[in-house]
Amino acid sequence: MSLVENSSLEPQSKRRKIDTEIKESPSRNCEHWFVRNKICISCNTTLDKYDGRSFDYLYKGMHMSHEALVFTKRVISQTSWLEDKKLHLVLDLDHTLVHTIKASQLYESEKCLTEEVGSRKDLWRFNSGFPDESLIKLRPFVHQFLKECNEMFSMYVYTKGGCDYAQVVLELIDPEKIYFGNRVITRRESPDLKTLDLVLADERGVVIVDDKCSVWPHDKKNLLQIAKYKYFGDQSCSFSECKNKRDESEEKGPLDIVLRFLKDVHNEFFCDWSRKDLDSVDVRPLLKEISSRWKHKAEVVV
Ligand SMILES: [Mg+2]
Ligand SMILES: [Zn+2]
Repeated sequence: MSLVENSSLEPQSKRRKIDTEIKESPSRNCEHWFVRNKICISCNTTLDKYDGRSFDYLYKGMHMSHEALVFTKRVISQTSWLEDKKLHLVLDLDHTLVHTIKASQLYESEKCLTEEVGSRKDLWRFNSGFPDESLIKLRPFVHQFLKECNEMFSMYVYTKGGCDYAQVVLELIDPEKIYFGNRVITRRESPDLKTLDLVLADERGVVIVDDKCSVWPHDKKNLLQIAKYKYFGDQSCSFSECKNKRDESEEKGPLDIVLRFLKDVHNEFFCDWSRKDLDSVDVRPLLKEISSRWKHKAEVVV
């Protein structure tokens, strides 16, 4: 007989007490791991103050406690390793996959580029109309890079740019949302420094590709720094690819070098997989090891 049924046989005063205990017990024991729109999805308690981290960009209104985050990261990564043989890859946008510049900052000699928008597949406009108009130049090899990375990694975009800007770039590099889905972190979610806390994957299985090291103060071991892509000249810099009427090579440019590096990382992470212990695999020492091997061969990623 259940406690509820039993309570009907009890005197009124005692029954009330038991009823109260039944109602309160789930929330008292619950650690409120997952809270959506201020309501714990496990015990239904409303929580006006909650310290968890927001994952609004993935699931509307969702917050997670520290414990829930550690647990979820581990489950997602281990599932991805076991079922898809995929690690996670976090990609920066500006100077990594694209170079964007305000049209007003273009050199006089490069202003004619604005007229080439529409006739080229690697040059696009953001916010048409002066003074806010910008030009977006896709890095050579970017489409092939994403296609091949998608075979080995679940991918995130992580940019200091705004949400609207990120959506415009994503329309150019991932219009069908095949590569990134809603795994896009922008200035709205992360206004200050970048952190893997916001990425739903175990840090032991995440590689970051970014041209800037300083924005990742706590995750440097996961970082693969790529040579900065700079196509346009601007008033602060005398060198640009465009000014010299050339661009990075499609075949042997920095994105191709990084891709080959990532293939090494992926191969070695999953090599002899059946003998590996899930709790001790870690991509970070592997990155260091492969990096020093590449430097030895004089193939530098940065
Ligand atoms: Mg950047
Ligand atoms: Zn709860």
